Amino acid sequence: MKILIDNGHGENTPGKRSPKWSDGSQLFEWEYAREIARGVYNQLRAKGIDIELLVKENIDVPLAERARRANEIAARYGKTKTLLVSIHCNASGTGKGTGWEIHTSPGKTKADDLAQIFWDIANRMFGGTWKIRGDWSDGDGDWESNFYILKKTSCPAVLTENFFMDNETDCKFLLSPEGKAQIIQLHVDSILKYIEDYA
Ligand SMILES: [Zn+2]
Repeated sequence: MKILIDNGHGENTPGKRSPKWSDGSQLFEWEYAREIARGVYNQLRAKGIDIELLVKENIDVPLAERARRANEIAARYGKTKTLLVSIHCNASGTGKGTGWEIHTSPGKTKADDLAQIFWDIANRMFGGTWKIRGDWSDGDGDWESNFYILKKTSCPAVLTENFFMDNETDCKFLLSPEGKAQIIQLHVDSILKYIEDYA
């Protein structure tokens, strides 16, 4: 099984950052997603998992190029032997959004199995304290979205929106060492469980 980790955005992407909080801290989504991606990569690599960072650059690599890279690898390893996880932080624009959610492309694919594993583990890890946002209209907890990276990739792909960077409580959790460790853990555990159940 080949695992591809995608990190949202680049250092040149406008917006995609938290407000600067009163203590001077601020989250930049491109930088944060890379830190989480690197942590997931290191931990799974240490467990012998074949894992690759889709975007090694710090600049924003266009979605079409991200999808092209993923599809090239999926063609080599086989669509069902490749998985893509794209890591993001959410923003509501109002500062009032909170919690965690996961997206797949519309319709039932293997991505829904992976998303459900993520959702269940997120609910176990964070459910008592945080809102785990679910869209249950189609019987599972993931959100069906027409995101380019989900629709244009040939392998199962999910996109995690890890808490809201424009909500101060969420953002302080994201920036804390425990928050980072837990978000990395969620991704590591979910990918390992998928490999165990479906690979
Ligand atoms: Zn994003």
